[in-house]
Amino acid sequence: MALLELKDVRTFYGNIQALKGVSISVEEGEIVTLIGANGAGKTTTLMSICSITPIRSGEIFLDGHDISRMSPHKIVQMGVSQVPEGRRIFPQLTVSENLDMGAFLRNDKESIKQDMEEVFTIFPRLAERRNQLGGTLSGGEQQMLAISRALMASPRLLLLDEPSLGLAPLIVQNIFEVIQKINKERKTTILLVEQNANMALKIANKGYVMQNGLIKITDTATNLLKNQEVRKAYLGL
Ligand code: ATP
Repeated sequence: MALLELKDVRTFYGNIQALKGVSISVEEGEIVTLIGANGAGKTTTLMSICSITPIRSGEIFLDGHDISRMSPHKIVQMGVSQVPEGRRIFPQLTVSENLDMGAFLRNDKESIKQDMEEVFTIFPRLAERRNQLGGTLSGGEQQMLAISRALMASPRLLLLDEPSLGLAPLIVQNIFEVIQKINKERKTTILLVEQNANMALKIANKGYVMQNGLIKITDTATNLLKNQEVRKAYLGL
């Protein structure tokens, strides 16, 4: 059974239909990427999974449980965390306080402490800056903090929306390494939305190409990197 399964999901903003019947499946332990042009519906897909933008029809299953009509906080409790586009950390809170916010739905104090130490092992820069205000961190560090904060909810499935957006190439490289590390060492399943299709496909097992609210191509990441249509439209090759 897939860890995450979307079946024929349709989502609207008023009269505008952003998702026109999206079906996606993510197996436990995989990194799956969702690529496509601006406005294709990638962010809406993540927002639909989290129930922040409720779906109009279709079904979403997590480990076989229907989560399509659950509240966003219940979905976090079920093991799904999202890192939204644009990071959105709390600039007036310290690094540690930002991380505490990520764990606010949990009450297992000891494991929270352990998870914070684990996060600091993955991101040593954040450990050095744990008492610094979030707003004073660099763009790359804020992205690391946003990812760490999502990890503090102890997710089985991590949804990442454009983690490389607006960051310098070296930092982007670093972010992608960290995503792989989280997947391998924490055994966290990852659904990654990216404009940087080339980098995303290099670390993913499987990819979905979205266009106009629909899934246009589904294949292994290796095949998508070789696919002429994908190379021309999304890899600039
Ligand atoms: P981007 O990379 O620009 O974020 P995307 O693939 O994530 O693109 P979405 O943001 O999901 O695409 O947008 C899908 C469609 O829904 C677009 O046509 C967009 O204009 C529309 N849309 C998104 N958010 C809203 C909103 N809050 N209100 C109305 N329409 C919206």
